Amino acid sequence: MKKNVAFYTLGCKLNFSETSTIARTFKDEGFNRVDFSEKADIYVINTCSVTENADKRFKTIVKQAQKINPDAFVAAVGCYAQLKPQELADVNGVDLVLGATEKFKITDYINDLSKNDYGEVHSCEIEDADFYVGSYSIGDRTRAFLKVQDGCDYKCTYCTIPLARGISRSDTMDNVLKNAREISEKNIKEIVLTGVNIGDYGKGEFGNKKHEHTFLDLVTELDKVEGIERLRISSIEPNLLKNETIDLVSKSRAFVPHFHVPLQSGSNTILKKMKRRYMRELYVDRVNKIKEVMPHACIGVDVIVGFPGETDECFLETYNFLADLDISYLHVFTYSERDNTEAANMEGVVPKNVRSKRSKMLRGLSVKKRRAFYENQLGSYRTVLFESENKEGYIHGFTENYVKVKTPWNPELVNTLHKVELTKIDEDGLVRFNFEEAPL
Ligand code: SF4
Repeated sequence: MKKNVAFYTLGCKLNFSETSTIARTFKDEGFNRVDFSEKADIYVINTCSVTENADKRFKTIVKQAQKINPDAFVAAVGCYAQLKPQELADVNGVDLVLGATEKFKITDYINDLSKNDYGEVHSCEIEDADFYVGSYSIGDRTRAFLKVQDGCDYKCTYCTIPLARGISRSDTMDNVLKNAREISEKNIKEIVLTGVNIGDYGKGEFGNKKHEHTFLDLVTELDKVEGIERLRISSIEPNLLKNETIDLVSKSRAFVPHFHVPLQSGSNTILKKMKRRYMRELYVDRVNKIKEVMPHACIGVDVIVGFPGETDECFLETYNFLADLDISYLHVFTYSERDNTEAANMEGVVPKNVRSKRSKMLRGLSVKKRRAFYENQLGSYRTVLFESENKEGYIHGFTENYVKVKTPWNPELVNTLHKVELTKIDEDGLVRFNFEEAPL
């Protein structure tokens, strides 16, 4: 009889796409994939080091698995497994922990699935994680996450990702295009490009440190893949977002006018401490360039509050900077100390209560920004891709420029694109519309 395997993914889109690759390995070995809430013979948890209280979350998930099947084999992979293998191995019920180089070979480490007396660790020095494994995942039947790059050569002082994922390296252009074609054959309408630092695309494509191709080459070629209706650049560092890429997106067949650009701080003092590779002036310039060629573009911003040395003045600088900028929403992260990072030893620690107060202020600003952006879009005609879930009697969808819309549930709309006129904002902040043509 086939053995059952279940997966739990924490963290980013990259982790989701890698879980899919690991799941395919199991399928090739004859396993049957079931939901995490179902009884499985093996539970695989793909961990994240960025997640707040990562250890607590992990323990809860292990307990959840054990409750469903106390005899199941439990394996942990992913960033947290690379950074703190022993910590995870010591959690009651864990049988196997695999580091960055071993995670894709997981089935080699599994024999008869009988439980171990202790958590077995197979880890590596992160310097050894210099090879590339391509991945993509199908999210919710409407969009796919396509991994194009992994690792990062930057040295941002708060970040553990280079320690968990290794140096910057890329998939080959041929392989990315092949994956994109494969996805399009599955009737998926949208591809989201993922990676750790995707603007660095091309580095290490053929195992060396050179850029064989650039991110601009990648976007240019992907835009030509037939059958993909939409392509979305997920997150790109501001210093790597070139004018040529912005221009290309503005004239593109499939790339949508939506950018997510990490800022992290609006104070140059803090940006320097973070060792980011730009100053706030460059960020303004990027936003202005996008808006100049695509006034309707949606721009999302990552920002960290409570970084060491962030005084009230520095925070206000960030707040006012963002308030004045023509952006559409914020993702606010509260700074938390990470082992083995430079920032963890910096002076000027911001008290936890101040961090959460600042986070609340910026989240409030984000609500206002999103509302203003949506209001600005009312009366315009946009194309919506409808999602697959019935959410309390409604179906949701996103326009090309990331306005979230809703309408009463109609299963025939799932995974279809429709031109609509955005008409009003509901109490829950989502946008109503009229179909331009009769729906279906
Ligand atoms: S760019 Fe900075 S924050 Fe982003 S992964 Fe690289 S080191 Fe981390």
